[in-house]
Amino acid sequence: MALISGFRKHLNIESLLQRVKSGFEKIESPVQTREFTLTDNLISALAMFRLKYSSLLKFDQDSCQNNTIRANMERLFGVLKMPGDTAMREILDLLDPAQLRPIFKDLLAFVQRGKILEDYRYLNGAYLISINGTGVFRSESVHCDNCCQIKHRNGKVSYFHQLLAAVIVHPAQKQVIPLAPEPIQQQDGTNKFDCELRAIKRLIADLRREHPHMKIIVQLDGLYADGQVIELLRDFNMEYIIVAKRKKLTKLFEKLDAGSQVKQHEIIDKQNIRHQFRYLEDVSLNDSWDDLKVNLIEYREVDETGKVRYYNCWITALSVTPDTLERLMRAGRARWNVENETLNTLKNQGYHFEHNYGHGHKHLTTILAMIMCLAFLIDQIELRCCEEFQAALAKEKKLSYLRIRIRSLFTEFIVPNWQSLYHHIALGNDATPIYLPDTS
Ligand SMILES: [Zn+2]
Repeated sequence: MALISGFRKHLNIESLLQRVKSGFEKIESPVQTREFTLTDNLISALAMFRLKYSSLLKFDQDSCQNNTIRANMERLFGVLKMPGDTAMREILDLLDPAQLRPIFKDLLAFVQRGKILEDYRYLNGAYLISINGTGVFRSESVHCDNCCQIKHRNGKVSYFHQLLAAVIVHPAQKQVIPLAPEPIQQQDGTNKFDCELRAIKRLIADLRREHPHMKIIVQLDGLYADGQVIELLRDFNMEYIIVAKRKKLTKLFEKLDAGSQVKQHEIIDKQNIRHQFRYLEDVSLNDSWDDLKVNLIEYREVDETGKVRYYNCWITALSVTPDTLERLMRAGRARWNVENETLNTLKNQGYHFEHNYGHGHKHLTTILAMIMCLAFLIDQIELRCCEEFQAALAKEKKLSYLRIRIRSLFTEFIVPNWQSLYHHIALGNDATPIYLPDTS
């Protein structure tokens, strides 16, 4: 079986983990301890998410009681001495979340050199970056200095943390490539939109600073169909495709309904599905932003019986013509895939995105959520690039089954390296043996 020959050697899990580890080593530790390095803490947290543990305490308990886990942590993750859960929480709580951003950037550059990113170019060589607010934690009692708060009418307070997640998507690609997320902070504002607006300002500025030459089309949901957001994107030389809602952009939809400047286009595909477009060009966003001109696209997907299967509207400044309409629509719909597949993947396929791994007093919740996103990025690259991982997946049929298998082998057998682990799953014990620990 020609697994090794086609293997993109530099993009296997060992090289990815090595890369992340050298990124972690560059971060200055907020406290000096003799027992554990900051890197041991960060890699252990990454291992916890990679092994899909739903709780830090459980991860700690298992590894304290199980020499095999500790041996495999050294072999597979390079952690010589595992920190306990309390020590890990204390040190990670003090870390500034922005210090993790360069690691995402470095992994993206690594992927770019492996020519993987080329497959994600869309519409004149640009990358579609989907940005979405995602809840990380919510509680009525547990909170920290940086929690966002909602005061309810009955006097109760809800505390929560949210991230703005940014992922590179492509209508024809199954995997997405997560970029560094931006935490939405308590100081950001008094209402949800204020908070998200300030967070998106930081995120857009960071993205442009980190990728100065990248052609970017940002996809956003209807909340962001706002003059301030569109101006911000223009200032940072980014294009946009934003969901347009009737309730928010009343004037724009009145013009569409009036029909005088409306153009129409229809595509009937091989399956007899009708893709119907109505669009307006160069119209004012709304009364407050009279000078800000956008194009509005209304889209319906109609099946053979005349039933509307999908409906959506978007605003964009990209050129809207019969030639570009379909590609713009596919780009707009790729965002729908992200919300329905990727975020569900995070929530349902073992990442436990909304679970509580510990709250801390300052940044712990955000740091752990960012490390979870990093684990997700590594998983996505591996899923796309590593033939040995793909062979193991083909054997186990489903990603969720493979994750369970990896974790059970990791906790029960001495595994020399990742490659042997995947070979063992794909080809069986005769081809690549792994060993029960010597308990004599
Ligand atoms: Zn908090």
